[in-house]
Amino acid sequence: MTVRAPAKVNLHLAVGPLRPDGYHDLTTVFHAIGIFDEVTVTRADVLTVAVEGDCAQDVPADSNNLAGQAVLALAKATGVTPDVAIHIRKGIPVAGGCAGGSADAAAALVGCDVLWGLGLGREELARIAAELGSDVPFGLHGGTALGTGRGERLTPVLGAGSYSWVLALAEGGLSTPQVYGELDRLRATGPVTVVSDPAEVLAALRQGSADALGRALSNDLQPAAISLKPTLRKLLDAGADLGALGGVVSGSGPTVAFLARDDAHATALAAALAGLGVCRTVRVADGPVPGARVIRTV
Ligand code: ATP
Repeated sequence: MTVRAPAKVNLHLAVGPLRPDGYHDLTTVFHAIGIFDEVTVTRADVLTVAVEGDCAQDVPADSNNLAGQAVLALAKATGVTPDVAIHIRKGIPVAGGCAGGSADAAAALVGCDVLWGLGLGREELARIAAELGSDVPFGLHGGTALGTGRGERLTPVLGAGSYSWVLALAEGGLSTPQVYGELDRLRATGPVTVVSDPAEVLAALRQGSADALGRALSNDLQPAAISLKPTLRKLLDAGADLGALGGVVSGSGPTVAFLARDDAHATALAAALAGLGVCRTVRVADGPVPGARVIRTV
């Protein structure tokens, strides 16, 4: 059973103050884009995880792997033995703020639901997904959605049209907890900047206006990501100079998403960014795309 799950970018990410339990309340607009991981689950004697693709060596192939944790959680919830071989082909940047691990967890849930003949349906899978991590429900959902709570409570966003993106992948990753910690530090020591509600992004999506969406992109974690990786400022400036409609650090970064006018503009923008040497690599992708879906059964 092979399942394909998409990367996400956050078109809007507002982070509330640090709560006593260590979490932050979020208001975010998730958008699934056409960069995918493929997760294959096969019946086996024991639970194993294998990972291939770009930066595969940075992904744990043990019990820390989120896809493996998803299989264990689904098995526990349904009383099935979790004996499957999981094979992950990474296309989503690792530790890049694109929720690759969460996509793999969502894919593993969908794959095992079918492999084990559970027929759980999206609602039950979403409940298990929310326990695995705040981005996992969106990996199932896909499309464009408003996320609240820790990001796990989703409302679909209806919008017109499709958008052309360039993802610029920075050298190395950023740890999500470290970026939140840096945001708390910056807020404790300087003027607090908080992005407003997502009304502007939602209006742009309703209109299907790439220009308006480009102007509305915002992320409270961006200053913290730049503080930890100052080269991101140069990358964002380069994209703006090259005519991107907008650019934003995705989630906790360091991947930067640039919005282009159309596919041809995205290809030209990607080539120009690659030529400047301001990032490790670039990818072009359309959004929105669906969430985790079975693409092959053997
Ligand atoms: P977040 O969803 O927290 O924003 P991210 O998108 O920045 O995370 P991920 O690629 O999901 O980054 O990986 C974050 C960390 O999770 C990695 O450094 C890795 O150690 C761990 N991890 C566990 N399982 C996976 C997986 N299947 N794919 C990628 N990373 C995984």
